[in-house]
Amino acid sequence: MEMRSPTVSGPSGTPDPEAAAQVPRRLAAVHRRVADAAQRVGRSPQAVTVVAVSKGFPAAVVQAAVADGHVDLGESRADELLAKARAIGPDVRWHFVGQLQRNKVRDVVPVAGLVHSVDRLSLAETMARRMDRPDRAGHVQRVLVQVNAGEDPAKAGCSLGEAGDLVAAVRSLPAIRCEGLMTIPAMGVDPRPTFVRLRQLRDELRERFPEIEHLSMGMSGDFEVAVEEGATIVRIGEAVFGPRVRSPWEDGVT
Ligand SMILES: *Cc1c(COP(=O)(O)O)cnc(C)c1O
Repeated sequence: MEMRSPTVSGPSGTPDPEAAAQVPRRLAAVHRRVADAAQRVGRSPQAVTVVAVSKGFPAAVVQAAVADGHVDLGESRADELLAKARAIGPDVRWHFVGQLQRNKVRDVVPVAGLVHSVDRLSLAETMARRMDRPDRAGHVQRVLVQVNAGEDPAKAGCSLGEAGDLVAAVRSLPAIRCEGLMTIPAMGVDPRPTFVRLRQLRDELRERFPEIEHLSMGMSGDFEVAVEEGATIVRIGEAVFGPRVRSPWEDGVT
C-alpha cells in the first residue's frame, strides 16, 4: 500500500484548498463514467444516484461538492456523520453506509434519510422504536438490507439465504420502509458475480414486495461494473474527493 502524507486530506488535517478545487472536476468525471456504463447496457443514467462518501475527508472538501450542486452524501460512522451534518448544514441528503451499533441509532436516525446497512432484525427493531419518539412523528425511516452477497467472512451483511426472511421482517415494522439491498463485494476478486447475485435476489424479492427496488452497489474501484449490472445507487469516496488517508475511522468498515 502506498504511503500518503497525512497533510494531504487527513480527516483531522487542515482543509486542503487544492483538494476542494479538484472536486467539481472529479464529480463530473464520475457522472460521465456512470453515464457511459449505463449507456453500454441500455440503462438511463438518471436511474443511478451517486452518493459521495465523505468519510475521512474534511468538511471543507465535502462542502466543495455541495457548492457544486451535489446533494447525496454518505458517511460510515455515527460520530463523523453528526459532525459533518452540523458543519455542512441542511441542504444535503445523508446516507449512512457503515456498520451501525444499536446505541447509535438514536442519533443517526434523525439525520440519515437512507440507512444502507441493516443486517439484522434487532437493529431495524431499534430503529422502529426510535421512530416512536415525538421528534420522528409522521416520518418513515428508509432502509436497505445489507447482504454479504460475495460470501466474504470479513464483510458485514446477512447471508444470501437469510435475506428474504430479513427483508420480510424489516418491511413489516412500523415506520420503517425497506427499499432495497446493499452489498460490498469481497476484496481482490471479480466483483461482477456478486453484483449479479444481488440483482437476482432483488428481482426475486420484488415479485413479492414491489417496493424492493434499490441496489446500492459499486464503489470507486468497481462502480462501472455495478452500473452495468443494475446498481441504482453507487457509493463513491475517493473518485470524488481524492485519495483518502487511511484512518481508524475506516477500520472494519470496508
Ligand atoms: C468508504 C465506503 C465507500 C466508498 O469507498 P471508496 O473506495 O472511497 O469509493 C462505499 N461504501 C462503503 C460502505 C464505505 O465504507
